[in-house]
Amino acid sequence: MAKSIMLVDDSATMRKIIMRTIRAAGLSLGDIQEAGDGGEALEKIGQTPVDIVLCDVNMPGMGGTEFVEKLRSDSSYDSTKVIMVSTESADDFISSVLALGANGYIKKPFTPESIQQTLEPFMS
Ligand SMILES: [Mg+2]
Repeated sequence: MAKSIMLVDDSATMRKIIMRTIRAAGLSLGDIQEAGDGGEALEKIGQTPVDIVLCDVNMPGMGGTEFVEKLRSDSSYDSTKVIMVSTESADDFISSVLALGANGYIKKPFTPESIQQTLEPFMS
């Protein structure tokens, strides 16, 4: 069954670009939801759970790091995969957000190949 996904980014343009890139990578998706920050994402996931969250780090309101912490504090979302998508590229930062429970990390700018490589293991 196709995976449901949520795109979390404060830029609507970036959400569109990510969506197009996923399609260009040939990955097939089920339901797609969008949110503009971590708080909105948690609220929407609470109503309609998703399989995979692609989450920006720097957002006004709740950022991606706090989003991961909050999501992982609730065991009902243990099976929800979270892939960070960010311009933050310091190894220390990436390790820290993976340690909080993110499942993968895509650096911006990304390519269809980098999106595909990171997402593919979570698609089946
Ligand atoms: Mg941002």
